[in-house]
Amino acid sequence: MDIRNIAIIAHVDHGKTTLVNKLIESGIKDDHTVLQERVMDSDALEREKGITILAKNTSIIYKDTKINILDTPGHADFGGEVERIMHMVDGVLLLVDAFEGVMPQTRFVLKKALEKKVKPIVVVNKIDRDAANPQKALNEVYDLFIDLGASEEELDFPVLYGSALLGKMSKKPELTDEGVSVIFDQIIETIKAPEADATKPFKFQPSLIDYNSFVGRMGVGKIYQGSITVGTEVSCIREDDKVIKFRVQKIYQNEGVSKIEVETAYAGDIVSIAGLSDIQVGETLTAVGFEEKMPAIEVGEPTVEMA
Ligand code: GDP
Repeated sequence: MDIRNIAIIAHVDHGKTTLVNKLIESGIKDDHTVLQERVMDSDALEREKGITILAKNTSIIYKDTKINILDTPGHADFGGEVERIMHMVDGVLLLVDAFEGVMPQTRFVLKKALEKKVKPIVVVNKIDRDAANPQKALNEVYDLFIDLGASEEELDFPVLYGSALLGKMSKKPELTDEGVSVIFDQIIETIKAPEADATKPFKFQPSLIDYNSFVGRMGVGKIYQGSITVGTEVSCIREDDKVIKFRVQKIYQNEGVSKIEVETAYAGDIVSIAGLSDIQVGETLTAVGFEEKMPAIEVGEPTVEMA
């Protein structure tokens, strides 16, 4: 299946959670094979906990393409998480509130995205607000790109306008009757598929660590090449170049708001791999016999820009 890996970046409260939830609903409507009960599951959970459940990472199938959407912190990021997420994606949705315009975290996350050369799609959100000024917000975004040293080509980003709250999105700066699936079409058009050769030996690098009480620590990352199946023995090249072998215990992928177990995962996809209890960010996992260390993941200095 075709894959697109993107991150969603925004200042806090500009509408990431609302948009991702609308995208999931829209993806479920489009993919008739997805069971209704999953939606109800998450509703029940939401009621139970009284909070919005948003799996940090989401995956949506749209027109036979699997779109992995990674969430990023909307507030100060001291752990280099944004950089590590940029490592896994080829594009970002930059969400900007049409009333508030560009804010400090908008600048911080866009800077990281431009540094990693990932392709942006700008989404001017909340145009339904009374005092919204989409044009002004967009001008601020252009100024920000220029200020961050963007090239002519990088300034040529697509822009969508809409209201995540109302589930409407369009290329026009107005509320039309188009839904948020406009975003999916734009992602498929603008963002390239991950460069990853499924026929080569397995290679993977965790960019993040996930945890569940069942399997403990898991490495979350993109499969750079090859494929991986539960039960396979793989090598882990540690930071000090020591190689240890372990058996893959579980592989998880995102599906809508759920995490699902899969038997096999393929190059280009973003997965969580369990089986090594002390797995660390930046280590390299490879097929046995193909131990070749990947460059360390650079994690920039903690930012003080948010002060
Ligand atoms: P996040 O912090 O980026 O995840 O932002 P949320 O999705 O939690 O949204 C923050 C607030 O803005 C919530 O009260 C949302 O209901 C509201 N909001 C999100 N999108 C829209 C929109 O398109 N229009 C309006 N009027 N409000 C929105």
